[in-house]
Amino acid sequence: MLKADVLVLGAGIVGVAAALQIQARGREVVLVDRRGAGEETSFGNAGIIERASVFPYPFPRDLQKLAVYAVNGANEAHYRLADLPAFAPWLARYWWESAPERAEKHALAVLPLIENCLSEHEKLMAEAGALALLRKTGWLKLFRSEESFAAGRAAADKIVPFGLKTAFYAAGELRKLEPSLHGGVGAVHYLDPASISDPLALTQSYERLFEQRGGRFLRGDAKTFRPASAGYGVETEQGPLLAREAVICLGPWSDVVTAPLGYAVPMAVKRGYHMHYAAQEGAALGHPVLDADNGFLLAPMARGIRLTTGAEFAGRDTPPDYGQLDASETMARKLFPLAGRLDAEPWMGCRPCLPDMLPIIGPAPNHKGLWFDFGHQHHGLTLSAISGRLLAEMMTGATPFADPTPFRLDRF
Ligand SMILES: Cc1cc2nc3c(=O)[nH]c(=O)nc-3n(C[C@H](O)[C@H](O)[C@H](O)COP(=O)(O)OP(=O)(O)OC[C@H]3O[C@@H](n4cnc5c(N)ncnc54)[C@H](O)[C@@H]3O)c2cc1C
Repeated sequence: MLKADVLVLGAGIVGVAAALQIQARGREVVLVDRRGAGEETSFGNAGIIERASVFPYPFPRDLQKLAVYAVNGANEAHYRLADLPAFAPWLARYWWESAPERAEKHALAVLPLIENCLSEHEKLMAEAGALALLRKTGWLKLFRSEESFAAGRAAADKIVPFGLKTAFYAAGELRKLEPSLHGGVGAVHYLDPASISDPLALTQSYERLFEQRGGRFLRGDAKTFRPASAGYGVETEQGPLLAREAVICLGPWSDVVTAPLGYAVPMAVKRGYHMHYAAQEGAALGHPVLDADNGFLLAPMARGIRLTTGAEFAGRDTPPDYGQLDASETMARKLFPLAGRLDAEPWMGCRPCLPDMLPIIGPAPNHKGLWFDFGHQHHGLTLSAISGRLLAEMMTGATPFADPTPFRLDRF
């Protein structure tokens, strides 16, 4: 029988970062996943470490926007009609949690994590020899009308009291910064965030560091996870493993463990797609650019220009629908001289979302030694390193650097 102090189940960016942080505090840790590290949701994101995302992604409350969403007319948020009945109660809760006073409370709860998200990643990246993946250039939010640009500037002004920096560019200034972009009346430059040129390579570099420091990474299926008399067990390709404590970092699949243990976790997924493109000769992109009014993002990546889509409200396991990606591509080709597609098939991932826009980080209410670290929605890359630290501090009896109460599962 294989033994460890701690079993971390799920080797996405959240699980790998948690494993490193727990290991750094003296525990013998084993990571278990059915796939390679970082090959699911953490593979395909837009690569932004969102240091400036003080306010999460609330459900819109503006009636005009709601009317557009209702008829599936917005490219940034689609829903799959057949899945709507299953989603409706979750959406209602998300809407309720997005009321301005509640959304602000949630934003303040996660603020200490946002404030430390980049510095915590930088520490891990330095140790993993991965700093070459990091670009501290911020990102651009581009607007198509004077009206939306004014609203975008007003939204950006709200983060300045938090010590964050922004710059506003009219069309001519934007063109100087990004000469290959065509279109847009102006942009907000969020200067504090950073981005990663290859999110998979980052997770893999953290996983290598974990193994160099004596950690083990084993293949196994979370469906075999079970409480045992002296901890928690799981079947791995190397045989059964028993650990005194376990951490669930299964992202959108966390219900594989929580449901059989009797925890009703109100999680839904916002699906997203990506495709890589070559740039036409002479064209280049220096920053991630969100086309705010059209709801897609272009990010320069090691593999090419990565186009990522907004949210698709659909079941985790229902077949992909590439309509949102195709519509985004048509608009993106007018914004930037994209050449051919570089991937055989579009990629799809599922952002694991709780209705109050906060992750679950902390102890399982009814199982001693069982911990949760999942549900990081649009910010799993951003918050992974710092969530792992908060969790590791709780697990090892250190004083947590931030109040962990808002992230407990029993808040629901
Ligand atoms: C289009 C898109 C763009 C995004 N852009 C950004 C961004 O710019 N910045 C940002 O911070 N976030 C972004 N995100 C969100 C971010 O990607 C996620 O929040 C994050 O990847 C979640 O990480 P995770 O480790 O929790 O989940 P995952 O990466 O999905 O990891 C879960 C792991 O569990 C494993 N697993 C599942 N089932 C089992 C099983 N039965 N047995 C064993 N193992 C199992 C999987 O193999 C996987 O490795 C984006 C997401 C999308 C979809």
